[in-house]
Amino acid sequence: MKISAYSTALFSTFFFLEEYGILFDCGDGAAAMLMGKSRKVKHIFISHADRDHLCGLLQFNQLNAREGFPKVYFPRDCGSFPYLEAFTKQFDPHVSGTEWDFLDDGQEVKIGKGLLVRAFRNEHIAHQKDTVKSLSFQLIRTTQKLKEAYLELSGSEIKAKKEEIGYDEMTYEKREILLTYSGDTPVEWDGRYNDSQMLIHEATFLKKEDMGVDGNRWNKHSTLDEVMKMISESKGIERLVLSHFSSRYHADEIQQAVEDEARRHAVDIPISLVLPGVFSRNILD
Ligand SMILES: [Zn+2]
Repeated sequence: MKISAYSTALFSTFFFLEEYGILFDCGDGAAAMLMGKSRKVKHIFISHADRDHLCGLLQFNQLNAREGFPKVYFPRDCGSFPYLEAFTKQFDPHVSGTEWDFLDDGQEVKIGKGLLVRAFRNEHIAHQKDTVKSLSFQLIRTTQKLKEAYLELSGSEIKAKKEEIGYDEMTYEKREILLTYSGDTPVEWDGRYNDSQMLIHEATFLKKEDMGVDGNRWNKHSTLDEVMKMISESKGIERLVLSHFSSRYHADEIQQAVEDEARRHAVDIPISLVLPGVFSRNILD
C-alpha cells in the first residue's frame, strides 16, 4: 500500500492512500504537497475539527471539486463543518460538486466494491457521552465466502442450491482490516485495533512528563511509551506507523526513543515513522 503523509502535532496532518483515493484528515499543505495526485482523492475523512486536521480543505476542495466529489466526511457533532461548507460555497461559487456528510459512531461508508471505511468514536476531545466530536477510521475489505456446509459441493450442485435458497443464504461476509487510522486520541486499552494489518497511531509526546497539564485537560493525546505498551498487549496488529509527533523533538531523539520503547515492550512488528516537519511520499519505504 502506498501512503503519502505529513503529520506534525499542532501544524498539519494528512494521510493519502493513493490506490484507494482516500485522504484521512486534510491539514495545511495537503494540496500543495500532493499536487496533481490530489485529483485522485474521492473520499476525505476528517477525524476532528482541530485546525491542524482540516485547514487544508479550502484549497484542496477548490482545486479538486467536481460533480459528486470529493465527499467530505466529519464527526456528527462538529459544528465547524457546516460553517466551512457554507463558506466555501460562497467564497468559491464555482465549487459546487463537493458533498459534505457527517458520520456517527460505528457508521460505515462504502467506498468501492468490497471496500468500506468504518468510523468509530475516540476520546481525543472531552465530549459528552452521546456526542461524536472525534473519530478514528478503519479501511476494511469485505469478501463473500461460501459457508462450510457447501464447500464440498460441485459447481452444478452449488448452482442448484443457489436457485433454491439464494446466494446470500449460502455465504458469509469475511472482513479484513487493511488499515486503522487512530486520528488524535489517548491510548485505548480495549483491543479496538486488534487484527489491523496496519495501525497508524499518534504518539504526540515521547513521555508523560512532556504532556503537561493542558495537554491532558481538553484534548487528549498519546505518549510513545503507552502506545508501545498497548501494542505489546494487542493481538494481530501486523505493522505500526507512528505519527503526529510534537515538533519539539528531533528526528534522532524520536528514532532512539522508538527503538528503546520497542525493545522494552518486546514489540517486534515493523515500525515506520512520520517524522515532524517532513512530507513523506511513501511512509512505508
Ligand atoms: Zn492534531
